[in-house]
Amino acid sequence: MTEQYGTDGETAPSARTWSGDVVVVGAGTAGCYAAATVAREGYDVVVVERKNEKEAGHIACGDALKGADAFPEAIPKEKIQPAFTNTDVDHGRFEIPKEDTVLEIPVPGELAVIDRWEYGRRIIDGAKDAGAEFHYDTVVQDVTQEDGRVTGVRAKRDGDVVEYESELLVDAAGSLSILQDKADFSDSTFDTNVTYSQFCSAYREIVHVEEPVEWDDALVFKPTTRAAGYLWYFPRTSTEINAGLGFQMNEEPMTLVEDLKRDLRNRPEFHGATVEDKLGAALPTRRPYDSAVAPGYMAVGDAAGHVNPTTGGGIAGAAYAGKYAGEQAIEALEVGDVSEHTLWRYNQRVMDHFGSRYAGLDIYNIFTTAVDVDDLMGMLGALPTEKLSEALYSGSANIGWRLKLQTAIDARDHWRFIYDLYKTKNVADEIIDHYDHYPTDPRGLPAWQEVRDDLMDKVYATTGAAPKY
Ligand SMILES: Cc1cc2nc3c(=O)[nH]c(=O)nc-3n(C[C@H](O)[C@H](O)[C@H](O)COP(=O)(O)OP(=O)(O)OC[C@H]3O[C@@H](n4cnc5c(N)ncnc54)[C@H](O)[C@@H]3O)c2cc1C
Repeated sequence: MTEQYGTDGETAPSARTWSGDVVVVGAGTAGCYAAATVAREGYDVVVVERKNEKEAGHIACGDALKGADAFPEAIPKEKIQPAFTNTDVDHGRFEIPKEDTVLEIPVPGELAVIDRWEYGRRIIDGAKDAGAEFHYDTVVQDVTQEDGRVTGVRAKRDGDVVEYESELLVDAAGSLSILQDKADFSDSTFDTNVTYSQFCSAYREIVHVEEPVEWDDALVFKPTTRAAGYLWYFPRTSTEINAGLGFQMNEEPMTLVEDLKRDLRNRPEFHGATVEDKLGAALPTRRPYDSAVAPGYMAVGDAAGHVNPTTGGGIAGAAYAGKYAGEQAIEALEVGDVSEHTLWRYNQRVMDHFGSRYAGLDIYNIFTTAVDVDDLMGMLGALPTEKLSEALYSGSANIGWRLKLQTAIDARDHWRFIYDLYKTKNVADEIIDHYDHYPTDPRGLPAWQEVRDDLMDKVYATTGAAPKY
């Protein structure tokens, strides 16, 4: 690794160059896990982050972490565990005011609500302990390429241009990553079928209440009243609540700050509450990128759509994508080949682990954009909760015979809706099955995409939804 500082003359800004094995852009979950994975093996890794050292790790989030028990080892779990402020959460509490119903649905697996900024600082420390270097206050503005291969990035720090050169670039710059606007992917498999309408706009506040809330063992969800959106109340502790809301960007925009304020005012447990922190951001609520690689380049986490599109949960996906990209970077560096062919295994591991499940769940997301929210809530209110829990977390929404029977008895008013959901489930299962046959080689991608796109046409025909891709 070399770092050179120079100047082109009295009026020109000083030019600096960092060169090494891997440049990671973004010090979030995906970037820290990718950097830690590569640095642990002794390679030169720098993480370039636009925020300053104090702000780094401060990310807009609901702070709910699912699957914390099985996080990648590149950053030891004991390192992040002190940021898990509430590990007693074991169910979702769905408030459906229009139906005057509250559903309590168990959530399988380890669940925690965390102090997100503390967690953010701890994963940065973990990546540093593994040997990664961090450059803060450094805003990446451009991607450099040579003969179709990505060779690095150009950034600005303190008004100076800083050049980064590396064998591999990991794009962990989050939702709507600017790197993807700058790079030319025309000769690669990299997925560029990405538009803002496949994202959700979300906002959250950290609120302190005087008296402990009664639901400190639950993740609370509620539909918004004024537009097709959702609210959440996630207890970091019994008196510190992450309260937020979001809406899909293909829907009519909500006034997030005002709408949250309105709901908070109407909840007695928040009388006299104080707001400690406010943040908002976009998050991908879409299927994972068909391919997140190009020669010399891998995108991870939000930058590659690695978020559960129905819950908005993206921390675990980002951590695993970081691990898989890091391991693939090591292999590419060892064989001295950063072509798509070598990097392809990264795509496969993402699809195997969670990508195909998320692509299946995306179909339910599409379904909900085409239905009446009141119908949806009415039907949810009529379902048996333990079966609903299985359905929600199995990915394939495996609605068993007991659920069908119970539903037929309890939800007679919603039979048309349930039949549409049933048909949608069948196409979602076909999609998941097709993702289970994700190509083993970049050359197989076009044929695989053709079949998938035919299945998506079936989804739009079944649901009546406008095409999302
Ligand atoms: C309001 C909200 C609530 C959410 N709630 C949850 C939840 O409860 N549970 C859950 O699991 N997930 C939740 N998510 C999603 C989750 O936060 C993300 O999926 C996760 O943080 C993705 O991690 P990442 O590393 O890919 O990106 P990020 O954490 O966004 O990190 C990207 C980093 O890149 C940096 N960066 C961006 N551009 C540049 C640039 N040009 N130059 C240099 N640096 C740059 C950013 O400053 C940032 O530090 C929520 C998201 C939002 C917006």
